[in-house]
Amino acid sequence: MIYKRSSELFAAAQKVIPGGVNSPVRAFKAVGGDPIFVKKAEGAYLFDEDGNKLIDYINSWGPLILGHAHKPVVDAVVEKAQSGTSFGTPTEIETKIAELAVKMVPNIDKIRFVNSGTEATMSAVRLARGFTGKEKIIKFAGCYHGHSDSFLIQAGSGAVTFGTPNSPGVTQGTAKDTLLANYNDLENVKEVIEANRDEIACLIIEPVPGNMGCIPPKDGFLEGLRDLCDANDILLIFDEVMSGFRLAPGGVQERLGVKADILCFGKVIGGGLPVGAFAARNEIMDYLAPVGPVYQAGTLSGNPLAMAAGLAMLNELDQNREIFQSIDKKTEYLHEGIEKVLKNNKVPHTINRVGSMISVHFGKEPVTDFDSAARSANLGVFNKFFHGMLENGIYIAPSAYETWFISEALSYEDLDKTIETVAKVTKEF
Ligand code: PMP
Repeated sequence: MIYKRSSELFAAAQKVIPGGVNSPVRAFKAVGGDPIFVKKAEGAYLFDEDGNKLIDYINSWGPLILGHAHKPVVDAVVEKAQSGTSFGTPTEIETKIAELAVKMVPNIDKIRFVNSGTEATMSAVRLARGFTGKEKIIKFAGCYHGHSDSFLIQAGSGAVTFGTPNSPGVTQGTAKDTLLANYNDLENVKEVIEANRDEIACLIIEPVPGNMGCIPPKDGFLEGLRDLCDANDILLIFDEVMSGFRLAPGGVQERLGVKADILCFGKVIGGGLPVGAFAARNEIMDYLAPVGPVYQAGTLSGNPLAMAAGLAMLNELDQNREIFQSIDKKTEYLHEGIEKVLKNNKVPHTINRVGSMISVHFGKEPVTDFDSAARSANLGVFNKFFHGMLENGIYIAPSAYETWFISEALSYEDLDKTIETVAKVTKEF
């Protein structure tokens, strides 16, 4: 494939944008080569500036569960834009999407909309601290909760891809309030709680992590966290930015039957526009300004275009709930297909999957936490795999620590082509 124009555009971008990108993992730095610049997208496909057509397994890193340029979403945004792009006043559509989200997600009474997943998690933690009057938080190694200071401690996603899970610029004062635990290790969480008795406001977790690859929670792990939080007056925050409105209409709470105290959303809830949200029961949400003392705000929060996209997306998902089974089945098909060809080609691998989140690890050991994900990252093999796939028209995330996001727009033909390509690319591994 030819990437001439993408390379030219990247050279121009690098002169005026740090690294040529507005979010690091887009830069292909970990896998080498220049990133592709996308001109447009439709359904399951990206079309780049050189005219290449690619089957997309990133889907804007998760939001586009129904594929690109999904008509009801695009129509809703175009129509809304005709009436003005932002007012900074309340609008009816904010209540409509809030009502729908509260209906779809178990265990929440109120939801507040923000502009990104980062804002959602940052605000959720402030709310938890305000509500409990305690300062420390527990996060898990390899989980990513956006780029606000408290979370850039052993963070996953781009932070680990670029070797900076602990970012310079985060003060020691902030870092000391973030306690680290190991995913899938209840004993370790117990120890951390014991050592910091009565000081922990909340425990934040990706209940099904997608930022160190996809990691399924072990049986009883999330339930155990719930019990530990209850016993120690700690709020349990599920960061469902990736899993929310994807693993079930009501996210992991519904799929696995474990309740959280505060939920964070992003990605799918905005239909591809910049939206995040956090939600909880009344008692907690009423701690927020203007009702309560915890301050949180946003000039563009609840923006009409973003709300129109989000509402159109949630309406589609709510009214066509068979979509959730359909994407799970597609992902299972892909899983089985890739498993078979990697076995045939004798390539050591582990595939993790929960619903429509899937990751392929080039190591043999089970990937259950950050350490095992790091041991299986096998960057040399992954980079060869990534470029082989791209060269054959399949676009997966340019990092060994990311999840593939399956969209309903992918056809079984697309999946077959992907499986055949995996077979071809890994033949000589
Ligand atoms: N939480 C999780 C679980 C995420 O995956 C992400 C982004 N990938 C975020 C938070 C941050 O969201 P955003 O990039 O919209 O700020």
